[in-house]
Amino acid sequence: MNDLSRFLSKVSVVDSGCHEWQSTLHRDGYGKFWYTKKQVQAHRVSYLLQVGEIPAGLWVLHKCDNRKCVNPEHLYLGDAKQNVRDKVERCKWWGRMKTPFEIVDACRKLYSEGWTQQKIADHYGIQQTQVSRYINLKQRINF
Ligand SMILES: [Zn+2]
Repeated sequence: MNDLSRFLSKVSVVDSGCHEWQSTLHRDGYGKFWYTKKQVQAHRVSYLLQVGEIPAGLWVLHKCDNRKCVNPEHLYLGDAKQNVRDKVERCKWWGRMKTPFEIVDACRKLYSEGWTQQKIADHYGIQQTQVSRYINLKQRINF
């Protein structure tokens, strides 16, 4: 099996259009894949195999903000600064709810780690409905 078919056998397409990594996840939330005898972030491998070279110093970033996603159409090249800038843009969008970006991000992270919405709500002293809104936000962000 070549690298690409081995890679694609670990991916499943979800409703949002994301191609989610089904295999090993690193604790940073990104998929891991053995490639050229190294463990490489799955979304980087996806880019390499399906789009092209990644110039030195550039990052492969997600338009969809889903770290598990390896859909080449959801990936783009940028530098670290751009990564921060994009996060700020998303922050502005979320800002309409007057909640610090960090809390939204943290809620989603904890939820993805298996916390219940109620537990997260108690942890931050907010309503469970609020937590629910943050978590479901993901599907509604369009770029
Ligand atoms: Zn995606």
